[in-house]
Amino acid sequence: MKGAVLHGPRDVRYEDRAEPKIVRSTDAIIRMSATCVCGSDLWPYRGFNPAAEPSPMGHEYCGIVEEVGREVTSVKPGQFVIGSFFASDNSCPICKAGYQSSCQHAEFVGGAQAPLLRVPLADGTLVATPGAPSTDMIPSLLATSDVFGTGWFAADAANVKPGMTVAVVGDGAVGLLGALSAKRMGAERIIAMSRHEARQRLAREFGATDIVTERGEEGVARIKDLTNGIGADAVLECVGTQESMKQAIGSARKGGYVSYVGVPHGVQLEGQELFFAHVHLHGGPAPVRRFLPKLIDLVLNGKVDPGKVFDLALPLDQVAEGYRAMDERRAIKTLLQP
Ligand SMILES: [Zn+2]
Ligand SMILES: [Zn+2]
Repeated sequence: MKGAVLHGPRDVRYEDRAEPKIVRSTDAIIRMSATCVCGSDLWPYRGFNPAAEPSPMGHEYCGIVEEVGREVTSVKPGQFVIGSFFASDNSCPICKAGYQSSCQHAEFVGGAQAPLLRVPLADGTLVATPGAPSTDMIPSLLATSDVFGTGWFAADAANVKPGMTVAVVGDGAVGLLGALSAKRMGAERIIAMSRHEARQRLAREFGATDIVTERGEEGVARIKDLTNGIGADAVLECVGTQESMKQAIGSARKGGYVSYVGVPHGVQLEGQELFFAHVHLHGGPAPVRRFLPKLIDLVLNGKVDPGKVFDLALPLDQVAEGYRAMDERRAIKTLLQP
């Protein structure tokens, strides 16, 4: 088969790769219905933390079970399934506490930008839909695999509750779905920080009530202006840079919550500043598996349409263009069809 492989900065190739096989008796092999490019794929693509050797790309997936190992009991060939980018047993104490992405047996699921994918710990990782979903549901179901699950975690970790004022730092797909999630959780006011018109529109469609285009200290000042000098009850940091983290902490009210779900690159917190900010901080790799059943349900019942973040769909063999379009911010998120 062929799949996406990153060879170096801005060099993604669609090339021959070994077909995945069942390695352990708890594995499943999935035939991909759709996959996509993640904002976090752009870090290695842009040359941050470069890999020593060519690396298969992609970690967001949904598709039909092709084959299962002999110990797998909860899914079977022919079922449509979705899983998270971290395989988890969903039974250890960490999983039971709801942090499946830090499962004692967690394993990263990589190489999803391909027609076939091996998923370890299939019983704990994969969630099957009640039947085969219609084609038009696929983008939104794919979104639950990471980007919607991560946006949902951002809102959950920031303790969003009905009536709250929420600020979202970052207008990538995760930030936009953070706004959608906050809306579903009953936030009254949702301030999206974005300077990109198409993304502002989608943010509003997803539930944002206000848009702030300023960044950094000016952005913080705008949030304070909009909240009578108090700051937001909950702030979702969906980028992962020093500036975005500072902006998020600065935008929260005393005693408020800041979640952070963007993979941090060069973020350093200063003790005194943190001390006097008086905020709750909670984040990390989203335990998407905790939310999958609920999010799949919301999608299948037509309550949400997170697939709208895919504003570019390409055949998998044009994966290089999919990365370029996101890198140049011509696309919010690229869906890839094998
Ligand atoms: Zn991702
Ligand atoms: Zn576990």
